Amino acid sequence: PDFEALGLDSRLRQALIKEKFTKPTLVQAKAIPLALEGKDILARAKTGSGKTAAYILPVLQSILQQKSANPALKATTGLVLVPTRELAEQVQKVITSFTAFCGKDVRSINLTQKVSDAVQRTMLADFPDLIISTPTRVLANVNNSALSLEKLSYLVIDEADLVLSYGYEDDINILSKAIPRGVQTFLMSATLTSEVDTLKSLFCRSPVILKL
Ligand code: AMP
Repeated sequence: PDFEALGLDSRLRQALIKEKFTKPTLVQAKAIPLALEGKDILARAKTGSGKTAAYILPVLQSILQQKSANPALKATTGLVLVPTRELAEQVQKVITSFTAFCGKDVRSINLTQKVSDAVQRTMLADFPDLIISTPTRVLANVNNSALSLEKLSYLVIDEADLVLSYGYEDDINILSKAIPRGVQTFLMSATLTSEVDTLKSLFCRSPVILKL
């Protein structure tokens, strides 16, 4: 298939053209249609496979759909958890490029940016649609009530194998209780380890497993 066939919002298709993404990579071709159907996904895919767009495009599509159904919606509906600040920055860059034509319909923030707590609180008070963060930064903001995850509908965990091995286990366990039941979940991992299995049982409902 090509990107035209995937049924993505025209504003996302415009961005794909601008970014010169003409043909989906394997992980994109497999995962995007399933994600758009609302399925939970556990995908084994390495850096360089196009994994970032494979999960970000469905998240952005979901946000745009919720916005067109309810333009006044002000709530964080998407969360991307990553193990490192570096990855958070890379993901934020991809989001910025894919949302170039979305105006204010998609507002995203990277919670691992080095800004003061007061600045972060102000950014969160505006209810960004999409948050990219390490588990620790999300949890700190949930705990001090700067962030609510009650309206979350889409959760991504990128480099899921690293998230638990980097010592985020306690944070993830607490977060799993703050995240509503039934959110759509997308776990992306280079390897399918026991850590990934743990995350799967915490967050997924019978996910489609893609071993690419
Ligand atoms: P990732 O695996 O997400 O880190 O992506 C690896 C690189 O491939 C990045 O530089 C992307 O911009 C690029 N890329 C991903 N998907 C496509 C695509 N469908 N067409 C062209 N380039 C792509």
